[in-house]
Amino acid sequence: MASVKEKGSISIHTENIFPIIKKFLYSDHEIFLRELVSNAVDATQKLKKLASIGEYKNELGNVQIEVSFNKKKKTITVSDMGIGMTAEEVKKYINQIAFSGATEFVEKFKDKGDAKDIIGKFGLGFYSSFMVADKVEIISKSHTIEDEEAVKWECDGSTEFEISPTTKKQRGTDVILHINKDSEEFLDEWKLKGILEKYCKFLPVEIKFGTKDESVPDGEDKEGKPKHKTVKVDRIINNPNPIWTKSPKDLTDEDYLKFYKELYPFSEDPLFWIHLNVDYPFTLTGVLYFPKVKSDFELQKNKIQLYSRQVFITDEVKDVVPDFLMLLHGVLDSPDIPLNVSRSYLQSDSSVKKISQHITKKVADKLQELFKKDRKAFETKWDDVSIFVKYGIISDEKFYDKAKDFALLKNTDSEYFTFDEYKAKVSTLQTDKEKQTVYLYTSDPGKQDTFVQAAKAKSYDVLLMDGVLDSHFISNLEQKLEKTQIKRVDSDTIDKLIQTDEKKESILSKEEEESIKTVFEKAANNKNFTITVDPQSPDDLPVTITMSEWMRRMKDMSKTGGSPYAFMGGGMPDQYSVSVNGNHSIIQKILKAEGDEQKTKLAKQSLDLALLSQNMLTGADLTNFIKRSVDLVS
Ligand code: ADP
Repeated sequence: MASVKEKGSISIHTENIFPIIKKFLYSDHEIFLRELVSNAVDATQKLKKLASIGEYKNELGNVQIEVSFNKKKKTITVSDMGIGMTAEEVKKYINQIAFSGATEFVEKFKDKGDAKDIIGKFGLGFYSSFMVADKVEIISKSHTIEDEEAVKWECDGSTEFEISPTTKKQRGTDVILHINKDSEEFLDEWKLKGILEKYCKFLPVEIKFGTKDESVPDGEDKEGKPKHKTVKVDRIINNPNPIWTKSPKDLTDEDYLKFYKELYPFSEDPLFWIHLNVDYPFTLTGVLYFPKVKSDFELQKNKIQLYSRQVFITDEVKDVVPDFLMLLHGVLDSPDIPLNVSRSYLQSDSSVKKISQHITKKVADKLQELFKKDRKAFETKWDDVSIFVKYGIISDEKFYDKAKDFALLKNTDSEYFTFDEYKAKVSTLQTDKEKQTVYLYTSDPGKQDTFVQAAKAKSYDVLLMDGVLDSHFISNLEQKLEKTQIKRVDSDTIDKLIQTDEKKESILSKEEEESIKTVFEKAANNKNFTITVDPQSPDDLPVTITMSEWMRRMKDMSKTGGSPYAFMGGGMPDQYSVSVNGNHSIIQKILKAEGDEQKTKLAKQSLDLALLSQNMLTGADLTNFIKRSVDLVS
């Protein structure tokens, strides 16, 4: 007990800790408030615990924490009504423990730049107050003391401290920071409120900060109408009982939606959510929401907040949440994730890895449940969730194992199929002579309409794959499905995409084919066009221009990044195949035309029509085409 004034030195084996703290924590000064309020919460929770087991018998009272500031005196005070400390405890917990931690800290991180996240691990949370204060006072009265005897500890940021007796009515601890010159920005209501809302919004003990106006009933006016007046009431910063701490069975859909609005006031309602609740082998609670996403990939990241026992840690949840679920919204809370950790620590931490795996499993289970419970409703949500599911399939084998039963493929008629259903649907018609089933897809039904219609005319089905991830998804799916090829509907003529045994007879002789080829080569006059003459049905298009599936996919993927062929990049020239339908009546016309000039003109005309249908005819070529068309018509 500090019955007399006592002085001491806190730096026995170490150089001064304060310059180091100041230097390392420089970019994150505001966390001092998180640390002090967290300590106040701990002290309050400890007292509640003692009361609950009968160890503390006095009235608990309304155990709020109060944060206040005084602009004139340049102080910020954090007060709690928790267990408090005796003088002995102050010496033990504030001086000794912190400074043995400090010794280790200084040894380890003296030379490293990445130490700011590690301070908490060394029990230096309280000392982070010296980042913003010249002098710190602790006035504490232990819950074990009945009279007004209390202890005061003071330290000016040097290695000297002072402990003296004082008096205090209320049990608990006040920490008073005398803010330094560089940190006066913190002596501001909005600044402090913002920091408290960021870190303390869901702390389990009520935190009072100033007052706010509230309108309350105030009798009736002369006509008997209810009157109101404005009064000042305590402003409570936090919601001490956020929904993730409750049991799902006690919550309604409205509760979840209300909480979503509390987190993201301006967002549309989410599609659905998952309440996580794990005790073993790690502790994890949280609620993850599936937001409505279209393709604003980047915009939505970092919407998941990570907490440790309701203390906000970060909204950079990379590593804790699998990459493909980064677009989810919500909160995760796990005491197994250390409060202050560096990035590299997170990555190698095994509980963090397990958490990530667990989240993947839960998300897959939830999607499966929705699919099984109400297939139609699931289909209506599919366009919004498909981005997660496809990303998950690409990046996580375990997820794919589950997702393959509920993932859907959508066709151009807006019908949805599971992978198995789709295989069954198309395998009869769309299997080629190598016994490969060929799935056809369009990435742009508007631009590729000619090809989609040609496929449909042959009763083939065409999938719609126009999402940002689809080019990656297709390549990945093709590897996963057996004996299946996936081809864009315009990557070759339909007959070549799906080559059946049924052989088309050519009505042209070998010589005629050669001569047609020459005519078209002359008409094309383009070294990137490879021209072939193929017998197709007379009803098919006379000329079809395509880019090979492989070539095009490579280009698509390098656009969205991460392509395995990205290194070949933009340097590759476009290569097109031009297939001339030897059985089309126009070919006979060309053969019979008089003179080379007329032949070339007709060939050029059919070639341009093919280019036009692909949106590839532009500029002078387009002008010439129109001129030529007018000539031919008149
Ligand atoms: P940590 O909180 O990581 O243990 P701190 O340096 O923040 O490290 O605090 C050291 C110790 O001081 C705490 O473990 C606690 O025992 C004591 N302490 C700090 N703040 C309070 C408080 N407001 N009330 C009671 N004890 C406190």
